[in-house]
Order: sequence, then structure tokens, then C-alpha cells
Amino acid sequence: MSIVICSHCTLPYVPATRSRVCLVCWKENEGYDLTKADEAHVRLANATKHLMDENARLKAASSAANSTSTAELQKTVNELQAKLKEFQNSPALTPDLIKTLITLCHPDKHANSTTSTEVTKKLIALRPKK
Ligand SMILES: [Zn+2]
Repeated sequence: MSIVICSHCTLPYVPATRSRVCLVCWKENEGYDLTKADEAHVRLANATKHLMDENARLKAASSAANSTSTAELQKTVNELQAKLKEFQNSPALTPDLIKTLITLCHPDKHANSTTSTEVTKKLIALRPKK
């Protein structure tokens, strides 16, 4: 089932024939009297048109909302990447200093203590990725 727009009254209808106009417009054009059912058809077509317009408006709003949140997420990612780079380039934590700290607190030199193991893991994570 497909919905098309009547070329005469511009209301949506489901075509039963190849006619480009809805049944109501066709009947008017052919000189037939319109019935209460035809009037109900026009009211239903108006309601359908309203729903189709509202659906299009909501789709556009949803698309705009999605692109906004994507742009905000990308901005956050860019800010975090800049901070990470800044942190990795921090003169206080050079790769040599991290290597020295790992050597100093390595679990082998501290009877495999939980603290030295945890700190060593964190220092390893701070090393610049190769
Ligand atoms: Zn029509």
C-alpha cells in the first residue's frame, strides 16, 4: 500500500486506480454528488496529511538533535585528546623519568607488595605509546 498526494486537492490518498486525483476529486470532477462517506474521507485525508507533516517535522528535529550531540561528543574527544597529549608531553613526566620511577618502585624490589605492583602498573600505563 502506498500513499500518494492528490494532484487536485493535495491531500494524501491510497490509489485504487491509476488516477492522479483522489476519489472525492474524481467524483466532483465527474459531477457526482458527494456522500457523508466522501466527507469523512476528506476529514481522514486531512488528519493523515497533518500526521505526515508532523512525522516529517519530528524526523527533521531528531536528525538535528543527533548531529548536535555528535558534534558535542567530537568536541569532547578533541579536548580530551589535547589534554592527553599535553599530559604525555609534560616535562614533569618524561619517558626517562617514568622509566626511572618504574625501576625504583618495581615489585621485585619491594617483596611483591600490592602497592608497588599497582604503582608500577600505573606508571607503565603512563609511558608514551610507541
Ligand atoms: Zn483530491
